[in-house]
Amino acid sequence: MTIERRSSVGVTIGPVHVGGGAPIVVQSMTNTDTADVAGTTRQVQALARAGSELVRITVNSAEAAAAVAPIRERLDALGVRVPLIGDFHFNGHKLLREYPACAEALAKYRINPGNVGRGSKRDPQFAEMIEIACRYRKPVRIGVNWGSLDPDLLTRMMDENSKLAEPRDAQEVMRAAVVESALSSAARAEELGMPHDHIILSAKVSGVQDLIAIYSDLAARCDYPLHLGLTEAGMGSKGIVASTAGMAVLLQRGIGDTIRVSLTPEPNGDRTQEVIVAQEILQTMGLRAFTPLVVACPGCGRTTSTVFQELAQQIQTHIRHRMPQWRQQYSGVEEMTVAVMGCVVNGPGESKHANIGISLPGTGERAVAPVYEDGEKTVTLKGERIAQEFQELVEAYVARHFEPLSP
Ligand code: SF4
Repeated sequence: MTIERRSSVGVTIGPVHVGGGAPIVVQSMTNTDTADVAGTTRQVQALARAGSELVRITVNSAEAAAAVAPIRERLDALGVRVPLIGDFHFNGHKLLREYPACAEALAKYRINPGNVGRGSKRDPQFAEMIEIACRYRKPVRIGVNWGSLDPDLLTRMMDENSKLAEPRDAQEVMRAAVVESALSSAARAEELGMPHDHIILSAKVSGVQDLIAIYSDLAARCDYPLHLGLTEAGMGSKGIVASTAGMAVLLQRGIGDTIRVSLTPEPNGDRTQEVIVAQEILQTMGLRAFTPLVVACPGCGRTTSTVFQELAQQIQTHIRHRMPQWRQQYSGVEEMTVAVMGCVVNGPGESKHANIGISLPGTGERAVAPVYEDGEKTVTLKGERIAQEFQELVEAYVARHFEPLSP
């Protein structure tokens, strides 16, 4: 594996470290109205419970700014320590100035240099946000987004490009402008007094090839920790595939210190899915372990009943449900693999590679399901209660094999 660069600069966000050798951090963002204190607290709690290590909330109005400190207080009362990041656009300087409790309660400010103000207002408004961040000793993420790229910068770079003997194509200039916006804003923040190790950069776009090109350039030109993610990744499988394709290439090359998967949820869908996908990207790449992996075969003509799919789903759900408690009780349980296989072709072999695995009977096979633990067949299940009995065996395996943590 070629690791070209993971940032050596560590940024501390409350109890969480990004870069500087820390594990890659998973983050997410709420989609509630921040002014709704109860609703936002509930969603932050759900995201944190799913494993989000940082949660961003939009701070877009006076009502939202006034709600931030009460949200923090409620989370603290619930024992939810996840740091809150404020997402600011257009009026961030004013809100941070007028709501000091908000400025204090947030653990980091996200500043979009394309949305801090236009023309002559841009520089002083950016400066005011940086000065407030310095005063409260808060780190910032300078988060460029190509949907809100600084139009003055882009126009200037396009003009300069058109005067070249061999002008670059417009997409290349756009990519260069995104990188330039991030780097020049970070340099300006440092001139204003922001410590180097209080800055994280991101440069989000919605195309995978653009993402790879832009982050490769950024990584080569600075040592700030990088927040990785596609913007507007999309819904369902499209969003998951696009995010995974782009981020996996960069992560494999050592680029990216914190990630977010920006999925558009289905109407009334579960916001925590973006956390699970981010964890699964990191875990399947072997970069972090969060929850036991369920290895399941895809099924085929040998699994004509639904028993196999149902069992695979039940086991996956059971493990996700139990993980928050297991994490507090046992050390290393997130490294466990559980195999749920559909028939005798690959079932016993794959189950033997897992910590614990079950090989279900395929169509026409004898209705028995051998269970393997650490490569050895331990028991054969049969009858109506195979799913429940296998779950009980998984529970017993966890209790026997993982070191209890002191309470
Ligand atoms: S293990 Fe059996 S059921 Fe599963 S995909 Fe392979 S042949 Fe099909």
